[in-house]
Amino acid sequence: MTAKKYEGRAVGIDLGTTYSCIAVWLDQHNRAEIIHNEQGNRTTPSFVAFTDDQRLIGDAAKNQAATNPENTVFDAKRLIGRKFSDSNIQNDKMLWPFKVIAGFNDKPMISVKYKGQEKVLCAEEISSMILTRMRQAAESFLELPVKNAVITVPAYFNDSQRKATMDAGAIAGLNVMRIINEPTAAAIAYGLDERTKCVGERNIFIFDLGGGTFDVSLLTINDKVFHVKATGGNTHLGGEDFDHRMVNYCAQEFKKKKRVDITRNSKALRRLRTACERAKRTLSFAVVTTIEVDSLFEGIDFFCSITRAKFEEINMDLFSQCLKTVESCLIDAKMDKSAIHDVVLVGGSSRIPKVQQLLQEFFAGMDLCKIINPDEAVAYGAAVQAALLSEGFKNVPNLVLQDVAPLSLGIEIKGDIMDVVISRNTNIPVKKTKDYFTVSDYQTSVSIIVYEGERARSTYNNQLGSFVLSGLPRALRGHPIEVCFSIDENGILIVSANEKSTGSQNEITITNEKARLTSIEIREMITEAESYRVADEQFLKKAKELNALDYCVYKMKNALEKKDMKLMLSSQENEKINSAISKATHLLDINQQSEISVLENHRNELESLLRLVIGKSV
Ligand code: ADP
Ligand code: MG
Repeated sequence: MTAKKYEGRAVGIDLGTTYSCIAVWLDQHNRAEIIHNEQGNRTTPSFVAFTDDQRLIGDAAKNQAATNPENTVFDAKRLIGRKFSDSNIQNDKMLWPFKVIAGFNDKPMISVKYKGQEKVLCAEEISSMILTRMRQAAESFLELPVKNAVITVPAYFNDSQRKATMDAGAIAGLNVMRIINEPTAAAIAYGLDERTKCVGERNIFIFDLGGGTFDVSLLTINDKVFHVKATGGNTHLGGEDFDHRMVNYCAQEFKKKKRVDITRNSKALRRLRTACERAKRTLSFAVVTTIEVDSLFEGIDFFCSITRAKFEEINMDLFSQCLKTVESCLIDAKMDKSAIHDVVLVGGSSRIPKVQQLLQEFFAGMDLCKIINPDEAVAYGAAVQAALLSEGFKNVPNLVLQDVAPLSLGIEIKGDIMDVVISRNTNIPVKKTKDYFTVSDYQTSVSIIVYEGERARSTYNNQLGSFVLSGLPRALRGHPIEVCFSIDENGILIVSANEKSTGSQNEITITNEKARLTSIEIREMITEAESYRVADEQFLKKAKELNALDYCVYKMKNALEKKDMKLMLSSQENEKINSAISKATHLLDINQQSEISVLENHRNELESLLRLVIGKSV
C-alpha cells in the first residue's frame, strides 16, 4: 500500500437497509471482531424513531414501530442519494408509514413528529444517526474514541448514492476513509477464512440478498489479490419485498374472511408486517407456519397458516429476477458458469431455501458455500479494509482490492445520445480522456452534461450533473475539446473539460451537484446531531433520576410498613413524610416534565427522611 495511512482506530461498518453491523480488526486476535450493540445483538436494525419525549435508535426504535408507525423511520438507504420524483421513491412512499415530502431541489425529506413538533430530516441525517449508534457501540467495546471508518454500499449504488453515504458519515462525525462495495467486502471475509482454503486462482461468485437490496459480484481471488470482474444487482429487491408480498396476501385473506380492509391503517399494517417477517424466517426451516395477530383491526383477531410452497408461489417472480441478474453478471464478466469455483451466500434473505435451490440448479448442482456468516461478512471485510488503511496494524493480511465501476459513465452528445467515456465494469481507480468537437461555427461555449446508465438515449439514463465550458476561441465547427473522467477508489466521479488549442486551459470540475448536501448544510447537521445527542443524554439522565426517585418512594413505603412505625414518628414528621411521598408521586406522574434539579432535590429530601425513619426503627 502506497497511500497515506490513517492514525487512530478504524472500524468497518455495513450500513444495511434493514440491519447494520460493525466490526473492528484486532491485531492480537489476528482477525476482525463483530461488535455487539448495547442489547447484546451483533446486528442493529437500521431504524430511528421519534416520540413525544425522546429519540430511539436500533432495536429500541424497531420494537416500538407498531405503536408509533408514523414516526418510526426505516429504509433510509432506499431514499439516500435519490430524487423525490424518482419512480422508486414514488412507489415506496405509498408503503411507508412515515411521511416523505419533496424538499429543495427535489430532495426527498422525511417528516416526523418529535417532542410535539414537526421535524423534517433528510435520509443522510437518518443514516448518520444509525452510524452514530454503531460508532458508540465500537467506542464502548474498544474503550477508545473511534474516528475513522470504512463504510460499505451496494456495488450497484451510483455516484450520488455513494456521495450521500459519505455525507451521512461526515454528519456522524466520522472520517470516511473509503467506501467499498458490499459484495467485495464479503469476498474479503470469504477469501481470508482459513476454512475456505482459497489457494491458487479461484473464481468466486458472491450472491448477496439482503433486506432491501440485491447485489452480485464475480471476483477472481489469487494470492490475496481480489479482482472484481463484474458486478450487478438491484437496489430495490430484497427481504422487505417478500414481506410486502406476504402482507398483501394476508390483508386479502383478512378481507375475504372478515370483510374488513386494513390497507389504510398503518398501525395494523406494521403489526402484520412484523408477524409476516417472523413467519418468513420460520419458513426457511419449517414447511408450514402460522401468522397470528391478536386484535389486528377493530378488535378482530387475525389467524392464518401459510406453507413454504405458498410463500414461494407469491414471490416466485422476484426470485426469478435474482437469477436473471446472476446470468447477466456472468455475461458481463465474459465467464461461463462452469468456470465458477465457489458460490458464496451473503445477506439474510440468502437463507431462503427456494432461492438456494434455484441458485444451485443454475450452477449445475454445485454446493453453495455457507461457511461465512451471511449477516456479518460484509462488516468483517470492511474492518479488514479499514485496518489496511490505518497505521499500526502488523497482522492484517496485505490484500489488494481491484474493484470496478458499476455503471457506464459518459456525456450527452447531439441527438440525445449518451456517449460512453468509461464503460461499466472498468477497473477503478481510473482516469480516461476523450476528445469531443464543437457542433457549430464560432461556438464560444459548450455545455457538458454527465450521465450514468446503460441506455443509448441520454434521457433514459441518470443525469449526474452538468457544467459549461466557456471562453472557447472563435473557430469553425469541429474544434476539439478534451473531456476527462476520473473515478477514485470510492467509486466517486470527477469530470473536467479543457480546451488546449490556444495554450490556455479552461477546466471545470463538477464538485457539488444540486442534490448533494453543501458543506454548510453538513456543518449545520453536525451541530443538530450534537443537540440530539445532548437531548438523548438528558432524557436518559432524567429517566435514571426518575427511577431513583421511584425506588426511594418504594423504600420509604416499605420502611413505614414496619410495625408501629407511624407511632414512633411525631405527627409533624408523619405529615412531612406524607407530603414528600405525594409530591414524589406527582413528579413521577408528570414523568419527564420537571427539571432534573427538582427531581434530584426532592430525592435528597426523601432520602434524608428515609434515614430518619430507618434510624427510629433500630
Ligand atoms: P440488509 O443488508 O439489506 O440490511 P440483511 O442482509 O441484514 O439486509 O438481511 C435482512 C433481511 O434478511 C431481512 O429482510 C430479513 O427478514 C431477512 N432474513 C433474515 N433471516 C432470514 C431467514 N432465516 N429466512 C428468510 N429471510 C431472512
Ligand atoms: Mg447487507
